Amino acid sequence: MLGKLKEEVCEANLALVRHGLVVLTWGNASAIDRERGLVVIKPSGVSYDAMKPEDMVVVDLDGKVVEGRFRPSSDTATHLVLYKAFPTIGGVVHTHSAYATAWAQAARAIPNLGTTHADTFHTDVPVTDEIPDDRIRDAYEEATGDTIVETFRRLGIDPDETPAALAVHHGPFTWGRTVEKAVEHAVSLEAVAQMAATSLALNPTVRMNPALVEKHYARKHGPNAYYGQRDAVAPRSSGV
Ligand SMILES: [Zn+2]
Repeated sequence: MLGKLKEEVCEANLALVRHGLVVLTWGNASAIDRERGLVVIKPSGVSYDAMKPEDMVVVDLDGKVVEGRFRPSSDTATHLVLYKAFPTIGGVVHTHSAYATAWAQAARAIPNLGTTHADTFHTDVPVTDEIPDDRIRDAYEEATGDTIVETFRRLGIDPDETPAALAVHHGPFTWGRTVEKAVEHAVSLEAVAQMAATSLALNPTVRMNPALVEKHYARKHGPNAYYGQRDAVAPRSSGV
């Protein structure tokens, strides 16, 4: 069942390790089959060295295991909230990558300070509100997803335009049209998180000109986007 999606999800999880975003088992990736309403996600606590596509777990949108011999990732409920609230996304990634997690632990949004950020994330990458104590004790993973969704709604951010959030005192979640895109966004997020920390150390009051933000975001994503190859095979890596 869902063999191709299992391969994509397994490969995405391994890519997180290759990109240096995940150590030990601190991360997970998933993808959704929208027609069937089924999600393929990494198994909980399985070592990356031995991970195979057939180890991936299939769950429905209520979190019930439909197929798989392992338990699904402990963060599954967070992924499911995001799939239900953001109908255009096809993949979700969670890591504890060092710089993005440092911003989450500091309870600070990552400000949009440069064109590298604006190329992928239209706005500051928001940090969620604190999770109320009663929800930390009960249905914590679902509450983590809920706070991401509520934060995007409160700030009026389009999740397609800024495909990342920082779960406060926890770490980054990213998403995309595919799980491969969600991985790419996790890589971009870690890079801009590191750059922003260094930029603010050098100049604590710097901000980016909004016109430059719009130029760079629209250059890649707007109706008249002109970055990359329009008709040829899309380039595998994004440049500047
Ligand atoms: Zn986590």
